[in-house]
Amino acid sequence: MTGRAPQVVVVGAGVIGAAVTYVLSSAGVRVTLVDRGPLGGGTSSRCDGNVLVIDKDPGYQAEMAMLSQNLLREWAGDLGDIEYRRPGSYLALAGEDEEEPARAWVDAQCREGLAFRYLEYEETHRVMPDLAADVPGSVYSPTDSTLNPLAYVAALLAKSRHRGAQVRARSPVAEIRVEQGRAAGVGLADGTALVADAVVVAAGVWTPAVLAPLGVRLPIRPRRGHLVVSTKGPRYGDVKVMEFGYLMAKFGRERVVPPDVERFGVALVYEPTRAGNFVLGSSREFAGMDTEPDPAVLHAIVKRALRFYPGMARATVLRGFAGLRPWTPDHVPVVGPVPGVEGLYVAAGHEGDGIGLAAVTGRLIGDFILERTPPLPVAPLAVGRFQEETAEWA
Ligand SMILES: Cc1cc2nc3c(=O)[nH]c(=O)nc-3n(C[C@H](O)[C@H](O)[C@H](O)COP(=O)(O)OP(=O)(O)OC[C@H]3O[C@@H](n4cnc5c(N)ncnc54)[C@H](O)[C@@H]3O)c2cc1C
Repeated sequence: MTGRAPQVVVVGAGVIGAAVTYVLSSAGVRVTLVDRGPLGGGTSSRCDGNVLVIDKDPGYQAEMAMLSQNLLREWAGDLGDIEYRRPGSYLALAGEDEEEPARAWVDAQCREGLAFRYLEYEETHRVMPDLAADVPGSVYSPTDSTLNPLAYVAALLAKSRHRGAQVRARSPVAEIRVEQGRAAGVGLADGTALVADAVVVAAGVWTPAVLAPLGVRLPIRPRRGHLVVSTKGPRYGDVKVMEFGYLMAKFGRERVVPPDVERFGVALVYEPTRAGNFVLGSSREFAGMDTEPDPAVLHAIVKRALRFYPGMARATVLRGFAGLRPWTPDHVPVVGPVPGVEGLYVAAGHEGDGIGLAAVTGRLIGDFILERTPPLPVAPLAVGRFQEETAEWA
């Protein structure tokens, strides 16, 4: 790929494909981004916009998230108004039994150099006066930020187009073309062939289906999540709050909670938006590709929110919806080259962190394609690391 700017096709115009396209087009690469549906119409339009370190395992995952936060700060100046703010975030404890694990979580993150703090009762209720009186404490991460995910994707695409990227909606990719062991482009469902030196598959939960005809198997599964949106009206603080049990739900650890909360993997997420309403989350279930909202799950989310914010009984719900997180068995995304097919890359499997990790993912794919040094070790992200899981399907 020397001598002229490479030509790259990116499959999937969610936040990940958009970030990859933004990085590549900013570096002068000729990029064509294709999506089978409307732009940004997949999971990236069915989520909240948190850019978090607070919920990442200490070590590699937290380091990756911090890198992404720092990149996003740089990008925010270029992207215009994406409702980007940096209020930090909090994990509220449901009971005294969570105090010890919460303090251990803070210690582990601090040992890795992150500025987490454990807030005692008084400080917790001073910062979050609407919390239920029996919340014993909280965890605080000062660097966490938030944005409007729809505006983020739209801004990445607009800037990419401005830098010469071609962006095509309603253009399903039917095949990835491989010639002599190299990715040669893609074939669209209408018969159009797009020729390229490299292909990046960023198709979220649909990534395994896009790659399957090449014999590439990835254990990315749809982990459904519901959200509830309030009308504009009373708010319950301007800071973003999750419950400490969110970590347990995310990593599938044991929790002592009501049966519907346990069954649907519900944990409080309270996210005030700039528009004046708030978003409540969320749930975690393996329910296939179904995105039809389930009233029982929405009910469990509201009930859980009332446990932490009793005053919310006065709020009005506007709507609820569900999206599909691209889950991987080790909760780490898949970012890198596909072994055996030169010029073919995957950027997928970000589960509940794709908005936050889009910037670092775009940067890494850019580094692979442009043969630059990546800012962190890439082995934990490797496409080939799931041999055990995929062997079970053979
Ligand atoms: C309830 C919920 C809350 C969340 N909250 C947060 C949060 O606060 N912070 C955070 O960081 N993350 C959050 N997430 C996770 C985040 O939304 C995802 O990780 C992220 O949106 C995944 O982006 P993606 O680009 O990989 O996938 P998608 O946005 O799904 O994009 C994939 C695209 O590929 C396209 N595609 C599929 N097949 C083809 C084909 N054959 N040809 C062409 N195009 C194709 C699809 O049409 C789609 O547009 C949340 C998710 C949910 C469900």
